[in-house]
Amino acid sequence: MNWPTCCTDLKIKSIVGMRRSGRRIQTPARTQNQLEAVKIMRNYKIYPLHLGTINRDNTNMMYMCEPGKKIDIPLIAWLITDGKSNILVDTGGTAADGIHYMPYMQESGQDIITQLARHEVIPEDIQIVVMTHLHWDHAGNNRLFQNAVFYTQRKELEYAVAPLAIQKNAYNYKLIFQTQYCVLDGATQILEGISVIETPGHSPGSQSVIVETEKGPYIIVGDLIGLYACIEHDPMIVNGLHTNLFEYYDSLNRVIASGCTILPGHDPKVLEHEAYPM
Ligand SMILES: [Zn+2]
Repeated sequence: MNWPTCCTDLKIKSIVGMRRSGRRIQTPARTQNQLEAVKIMRNYKIYPLHLGTINRDNTNMMYMCEPGKKIDIPLIAWLITDGKSNILVDTGGTAADGIHYMPYMQESGQDIITQLARHEVIPEDIQIVVMTHLHWDHAGNNRLFQNAVFYTQRKELEYAVAPLAIQKNAYNYKLIFQTQYCVLDGATQILEGISVIETPGHSPGSQSVIVETEKGPYIIVGDLIGLYACIEHDPMIVNGLHTNLFEYYDSLNRVIASGCTILPGHDPKVLEHEAYPM
């Protein structure tokens, strides 16, 4: 299958590869490459949008850790704005209908339109949507953003077409393929102050979004790091759903080494703050 190649192709260099180990590493001074990836430019604010809650076994977020323990984890998308540009990272899951993806709860006001309205943004205002990956709980509302250019990694689209049978349920085909994507092949600057780097492991085409703010760069990592606990543990713990553990630990180490402030994909703690930087 041929996917169109994106025209935004100001490439940035990948953050240096780190050893494939689960042990947390000391954060070194930033290398020149890392500075290239995050230098700049414009000061963005990042707003987590709470789009519902799913109840899952702890092993879903932390591979093989405390099986039988059930945890509530929020579905989160991220609004990034500097007052001129409006960017979304992920779009959350579809409305909780009491049938699919259960247990899945959505309180009143946790739909993405209402969550954006809290920041005086309507779907038509969104110019760019960056997909950390295409799982159902990250790509469920793509169809609402008709004016936006969507960015995903080519490897993610290719895997979504034909995933391992055991991971098919993670992708909602009907919704994913309603959207045209601007396909990326590796690290790319999306806008001044907003870049992506490849962080595979949870899925082959997972990517993380680096956002420049007045308090330094933040990184939105999707499900590479679902909970802060995953990287606080020594050795670090991967998501229960993964496609390559060697790539996964390499991605974790590069994200840690970047020195960026990490925003996990499903940690209730990120919702304790209205905006980042705080
Ligand atoms: Zn996922």
